[in-house]
Amino acid sequence: MTSPGRPGRSVESPALPCPPGARSLLVCIDYEGRWGMPFGAPYDLEASTERILAALARHGVAATFFMVGELATEHPELTRAISSAGHEIALHGWRHERLDRLSTRELVSFGERLAYATAAIETITGTRPAGFRAPYLLAPRFFDAELYALLAGHGFRWASNQEIRHVVELFRPDRLRTGRPWQYLRSHPGLMRGAGARALLLALNANIHGPTSLRREGAKARWLLSGYPPFYRDALLEIPLYSPLDCDLLKFPAPSASSPEPLLDFARFALESCLTCARDLSMLTFHDWIIAGANRLDLLDEVLSFVSQVKLQPVTVEMWWSRLAQRRQQTPGQVDLNR
Ligand SMILES: [Zn+2]
Repeated sequence: MTSPGRPGRSVESPALPCPPGARSLLVCIDYEGRWGMPFGAPYDLEASTERILAALARHGVAATFFMVGELATEHPELTRAISSAGHEIALHGWRHERLDRLSTRELVSFGERLAYATAAIETITGTRPAGFRAPYLLAPRFFDAELYALLAGHGFRWASNQEIRHVVELFRPDRLRTGRPWQYLRSHPGLMRGAGARALLLALNANIHGPTSLRREGAKARWLLSGYPPFYRDALLEIPLYSPLDCDLLKFPAPSASSPEPLLDFARFALESCLTCARDLSMLTFHDWIIAGANRLDLLDEVLSFVSQVKLQPVTVEMWWSRLAQRRQQTPGQVDLNR
């Protein structure tokens, strides 16, 4: 039975939707090349794609690629290669445009491009994209009713915009001036689970604590220590986007610029601590132009090795959803998460 939830309202499910005995991990690549880079810089999209696909293959990981529509249609060979390697393709805008400020006329025009991109991807890969992540996540609200209605009208079944932040992000070396407090955290992981951590979360969620750079005006990001299950928002299933993203940890390096070792150390620590406390469904998100550049691909390799050490099972959204439906003997797309 379908449980579409109430318009614009988050419906938390107390039961974490995951097959028993397996904790699922969604490995996501925001695949956007020069369309999403916040600066102009030389970038070899083909070489980066090859490096990312090889890393995923080394670890037997099926990922979800959120592709910029124009990129997918301009580079059908890359779209085909990603799909042929067993990865899921979802969409990430047409030209990596902001979608939360469109007029009704602009929204109609965006809908036409969306239809063109989905049809092109279906022609190239044989599969129609069912998922969508908006560039910039529709922040600060992480939701737009008109856009969600448009997506549902074009046959999309899920979205991934609601940002969930982890407290570990606060410990980025350049955010705190007291050395490397995350190393203390590493030896005292209980600190992130006690009453102090809960008090910190309350303050963060009330938007009254934390570095200014993380306190966005009216932001509806949620701070949590572990999981937050998917929920229906209007007609789409919202798969929360779990931070930290690679850009939260490594900032915005040019593809050819190496990242400093202390930042890479911290990124490894932050991602591994999020994976350690992951509940039944968690997520990693990387940007192609960040993670495949300079000295950062090793980080992807190391984190994917860690995934198997902590026995997380990498799946695409489609795989996760159909397994859930199978387990509950329901039809994919009509799974009642509240049952
Ligand atoms: Zn993006």
